[in-house]
Amino acid sequence: MSTTFHSTRGNDEALTGRQAIRQGLAGDGGLFVSDGLGDRQVDVAPMVGQPYQAIARRVLGVLLPDFSATELDACVRAAYGAQWLDPAITPLKPLGDDYILELFNGPTSAFKDVALQILPQFMARTASGDGNPAGDAAAREKVMVLTATSGDTGKAALAGFADTAGTGITVFYPEGKVSEVQRLQMTTQAGSNVSVCAVRGNFDDAQSAVKRIFGDRDLAARLEDGNHVSLSSANSINVGRLVPQVVYYFSAYAQLVGRGAIEAGDEVEFVVPTGNFGDILAGYYAKRLGLPVGRLTVASDRNNVLFDFLTTGTYDRERPFFETTSPSMDILVSSNLERMLYYFSDGDTDLVRGLMDDLRGKGSFSVPDALLRRIRTLFSCGWADEGQVSRAIADCWKRNRYVIDPHTACGYHVMAHAPRQAGMPRVLLSTASPYKFPRVVCWALGLTTTGTDFECMDRLAEASGTKAPGNLRGLEHATERHTHVIDIAGMADYVRNASLRL
Ligand SMILES: *Cc1c(COP(=O)(O)O)cnc(C)c1O
Repeated sequence: MSTTFHSTRGNDEALTGRQAIRQGLAGDGGLFVSDGLGDRQVDVAPMVGQPYQAIARRVLGVLLPDFSATELDACVRAAYGAQWLDPAITPLKPLGDDYILELFNGPTSAFKDVALQILPQFMARTASGDGNPAGDAAAREKVMVLTATSGDTGKAALAGFADTAGTGITVFYPEGKVSEVQRLQMTTQAGSNVSVCAVRGNFDDAQSAVKRIFGDRDLAARLEDGNHVSLSSANSINVGRLVPQVVYYFSAYAQLVGRGAIEAGDEVEFVVPTGNFGDILAGYYAKRLGLPVGRLTVASDRNNVLFDFLTTGTYDRERPFFETTSPSMDILVSSNLERMLYYFSDGDTDLVRGLMDDLRGKGSFSVPDALLRRIRTLFSCGWADEGQVSRAIADCWKRNRYVIDPHTACGYHVMAHAPRQAGMPRVLLSTASPYKFPRVVCWALGLTTTGTDFECMDRLAEASGTKAPGNLRGLEHATERHTHVIDIAGMADYVRNASLRL
């Protein structure tokens, strides 16, 4: 079985899981994939009734075979402990005739915590030990983790990496384009190794600039010579971000069996609010490992580039960019789609490279009909405009007495309007706490609010009988530490200066 990783765009590199995690992105700009995916199957039946941590050890052991069981156990313990508000980590709850999987009970109240609590643990174990031939030289080496965020990744990465030895974290977010709560979450972050900076531009501008910085060989050489720093990524293109997300699909399924909703072996549909395609791609990985995933439904917001792709076969990024109430899904280039194209074309690196060249050169690509048909046997799609998001929040509350955030609401809308597959239970992945977007949620529920986001939180708590997570409510009186605003052109220098401080 092949457990090495190589690029979606070529087979030249052959890396261990550790090396792929440390490096983040392949040298040719592609994403790391392993051809051994699915060679080892994971039986979900023995997971019924097991704690999340046990399921995580089992699934991660198969996806990252170059980590020892002892190492993975230590990573899992550190990542999924008392910092989570629910001991089930990702609890499954009934929602009418369907189910909702809460992925937001972590320290920053967004689903990205699932991956970003454990990524720093993986990263810390990439410096030395077996599986890393670089040995001592690598142990001296420091890593600067670099991330562009549309809102949630930034804080989750900061919370995960703050004060981690041998690692720095730099986060760029688009000025004025994240919610007040999201902004405060980032600007108040403490830690000796953290840098947070607003940039003038939108998320795609910032993300493209980060990709250019990764490709800047001069900069890489200067960081290496000057301070033994190499750059890595915490964006969902990193293998170490993707694989922890496979775990909650197994956990959800085991919980469905545990509550008698299905028998082991029955197929389940997952509806996933989607931006960069990482969350839903993890569902595909789960299927490759043997989980009975009957259908994966992509739910987009008004930036419905994936909906158009999945209905026409043409991916076209040359379109207006809309700022919506679901900023973490306001994305025109869904990076992880590249991995899906790789697997559905049976590993055709030439095809993937050509498509990505088209995307860069022409702003669009089209896949062959046969490939689109194959993709559509598993993936379906829908999207919600702003009015529909707002009505979905209200409808979900009215029917189920359950408050959802605007991202989850895109999924709720799509699920409510899609034909149900006979006998196939549906699980909606809930990606953020409604308290991260209290103003939008209050407005949707018809709760009158005139004050700050914190007054909105209190209003929401009072009306819904739920409680705002302490990490969010406490931001009102936290000290802002990071107030830089720079142009896109200044990002490389900013990274260099932050790296010199490591
Ligand atoms: C990141 C994010 C998403 C989108 O997830 P992808 O893996 O990028 O598709 C959806 N909702 C919220 C709240 C997020 O933070």
